[in-house]
Amino acid sequence: MLRRPKPIDTSVKSRNKNKYCEYHEDHGHTTAECRELKKALHELADQGQLNHFLKKGDGDHNRCNLEEKKDNDANRNIEIIAIIIGGIDSSS
Ligand SMILES: [Zn+2]
Repeated sequence: MLRRPKPIDTSVKSRNKNKYCEYHEDHGHTTAECRELKKALHELADQGQLNHFLKKGDGDHNRCNLEEKKDNDANRNIEIIAIIIGGIDSSS
């Protein structure tokens, strides 16, 4: 469901090894900081495919809320989703 990320293009030396991205399965930034993951999630949200992950409690009209959320909420959602997906389908 989530598309595969482009590899991190920062050189290995300048990456922060204390940060790990579950989407890229590589070091350099955290999952919550991952721009590629955010882009991929926004694409899924646009397609309405995140509704079963993001329980808002009052229906479909909230499906575009991901765009409007404050960073903290968006980051928390991304972390939750990253946990749910537990890794990206590597067979495709
Ligand atoms: Zn990443």
